[in-house]
Order: sequence, then structure tokens, then C-alpha cells
Amino acid sequence: MKNPKASLTADFEDAYGSQSSAVTNEPQVKAKKAKAKKKRSGDSFWTRMLIFICGALVGLGVFATVMYFTQGKNADTKKETKRNSSSYRTSSDNRSSSGSRGDFYRPKDEDDDDDDAIIRDRYNEKDLDDDFDDYVDDDYDPDFNSDFNDPGYTLPKNISDEDLSGYTIILDPGHGGRDTGCVFPFDYPEYNECDFNLRIAKRVEQELTSRGATVHMLRTDNSWVSLYNRLAQTHLICLDIAQEQGILPFSEDRADELRDRLWESIYINEDTVASGGMGIMVGSGVGEDLKDLFEMEYKLEKVLFLSIHLNSSESRTLHGNQIFYVTDDSVIESENRQMYENSEFQRSDFPIRDPYYGRKNDDNYLLGCCLYDNIVGNIPAFETNGTPVKADNYAVLREHGLTGALVEVAYLSDDNDRALLLQDQIVDQVAYSISDGVKMYFLQKDI
Ligand SMILES: [Zn+2]
Repeated sequence: MKNPKASLTADFEDAYGSQSSAVTNEPQVKAKKAKAKKKRSGDSFWTRMLIFICGALVGLGVFATVMYFTQGKNADTKKETKRNSSSYRTSSDNRSSSGSRGDFYRPKDEDDDDDDAIIRDRYNEKDLDDDFDDYVDDDYDPDFNSDFNDPGYTLPKNISDEDLSGYTIILDPGHGGRDTGCVFPFDYPEYNECDFNLRIAKRVEQELTSRGATVHMLRTDNSWVSLYNRLAQTHLICLDIAQEQGILPFSEDRADELRDRLWESIYINEDTVASGGMGIMVGSGVGEDLKDLFEMEYKLEKVLFLSIHLNSSESRTLHGNQIFYVTDDSVIESENRQMYENSEFQRSDFPIRDPYYGRKNDDNYLLGCCLYDNIVGNIPAFETNGTPVKADNYAVLREHGLTGALVEVAYLSDDNDRALLLQDQIVDQVAYSISDGVKMYFLQKDI
């Protein structure tokens, strides 16, 4: 997904220049040299022998020191080789070492195997408190995440294939068809984001399904599916689940009425306000129909929404993984700005409602952390130099009540990220990592 905000980074130059100066008093230096020459001429044979012996001892000491550091460097090289190979671990290796994940926001000690220790060391090279601060937006209340610092959580080792049974994931491969998403190169596109998204999402679907989860894909080929079509599909899936579980918070007649309205969005299949394709999702705030759906979806704790995208940076300075989530505040702030700046939102028939509060802000943030943590834990090259987990206002997350995240797997515009994304084993790693992130979220929530 294109993210104009992401390019708003600044390079800072070192403000400190080096400074050196030497002040020489020439006559004093000459006098010292003459004195030293006179003294040397009077040295005896034995003095010269003593100097030779001392020199030999110093030489031996230097040799021993060089040997010591050479050995150390070899050991470091071996360790580095092993660390790199851990990025390409097989499925079974990945699962057996999954206990290391969670370190990004919750460092743990002891009982790790070597691989875990290597990954943890890599995390701990940076100040964890500084990293944690990166998660929090300037205008966002950081207090809500205090519970995440409780000790005691580790993802169990030897995760079985059945460990996600009972959970449902709605997977949204971003863009498709005439909507390519971001492209690279910018002028003569060779790569389209939509193709990467679908490939990754299909692999994630396969992995989640193999672990027992139920997966719904909102796009399964390279066709164009409108944004609000995807959201309507999501609500319809949730209506079915709630009805099956007997937890509809309204009558079945009301459910049928909502279904009809959602199908209208799918039939129209347009994104613009003018077309009416938004259906019950049009306007700022949340209308009564949508409120009913939100209330129903908040109760579906074992259902998550994940949208799969790639990032792009016009300046090509950014790389790595990034997770977006929504909060009430991030949505309200964005809607206010759009209504002020965007003429489409100033139409007389555009519904403007009171700000809506009630989203699962903390859960969305927790899911974002679990996903970033696992992706970067398995693929250290995807550690971002931008903001790892960020609140924003994406419709795919805003217009439903499920806990959800938009995963910008990596930057299509970054040469290293793109080279990795083209590798099957990296796509596999992304799939394992997202699945582990999902599992970690449910374990954290104890549901
Ligand atoms: Zn995208």
C-alpha cells in the first residue's frame, strides 16, 4: 500500500566536526633533541642489550594479542553464518524455536536453544525501551499497553498442526486487477504489489489452514475487488459465524435486512462515494446498521482480519516490515482532516455523524506487535528503519468490528526487500511468522 506519510523522514547530519590543533614551541624542542642525542651516545653495550631484550618481549606480547583476536573473529564469523542461516529455517525448525518470539516487547532469559539465543541477541543489540517507544504515536496514549510488560509469556515450543483450530482468519490480499497497488520501477513497472500480495496471502492461507484455522480469502485471483466489496464480504462472513454460534445480538430478520444491504455493496462494487458503493459504510462516524454489525463482531473474539500489502517509499530510503492498525482516535483524527481538506466529503448528501468510540484499540495494537515481532524475529532483514507498528485510518480496518491489522510485509521499492520477497523460502517464513503472530495474539488474550 502506498503510504505517503512513510516518506516523511528526515536525515540528520552529524553536527559535530572534528577539531585538532598543535602548538609547538620550536626552540624548546631543539634543545630536548640535542640533550637526547648526547645521552644516547653515552649508552653502554649492556644498555643496548637490555633494550633489545625488552623489544623482543614486547614483540612476543603483540603476537600473542593478534592471535587471540584472530581466534575470536573466527568464532564471530561462525556465529554470524549460523545467524544468517536461521532466516531460512524450514517449517519444523521454525516451530521448534518459536519460543524466542515475543522478545521485541517482552525480553525473556534462559532456556533457549542456540538458535533462539542468536535471534534474541540480535534483538537486544538495540535498546528495547527505545524500540518500544517507536510503537507509540506521538498523539497516542501510551498507557494502554502497560499490561504487555507483564512477564511470563512464551510461545510454546513444538506447536502442533492443530494449534489454531477453532479460530477464523479473514485474509485480504490487497489490490488486484486494474488496481495494481504500488509498482516497481516507478516509471516502467516490472513488479506489481497485487501479485506479491496474492502469492503471500495464499501461502499464509495454506499455513493457517494446516494448523487447523478456518480461513476466508477475500480475493483468490488477479481480479479487481472493490474495497467495500471486501468489507461487505467480511460482514457477511461474520453474520454467518454469529448465527451459527447463536450469538446474534439482534433478530434473524434484522440479520437478513443487514445481509441485503451488504449485498447491495457487492453488486455495485464501486469504491467512490458518488456511486454509493460504500453502502452502509458511507459517511464519517458509524451509522446504526454498522453499529449493529460492530457490536456483533466485537463478540467474535476468535475471528481476526488480516490485510496483506507491500509498502513503497518514493525516496527509497525506507525498508522492512510495518503493521498498521486502527484506533478510535486515529480514525476520528483522520476523518476530521479529510472533511476539512477533501471536497468529496463536503457534499451535502455526505453523512456526517458524531465521532464513534468503541473499537478494540488495545487488541488491534497487540495484534500489530505480535505480527511485527514474529516477522522480524524470523526475518531479521525485515526489521524496519521506519515506524514498526502504527495507528492510521485504513477503511479495511475501520469499517468492521473485528480485531485486525494491515501487514505491509516489506518495501517493494527497496532492492534488498524486493530480492527477498521474490524467494520462496522468504514467503514461507512470512507465512509461518504471520501464523505464529496470530497464535501469539490469541495466547496473550487467553482466548
Ligand atoms: Zn497496498
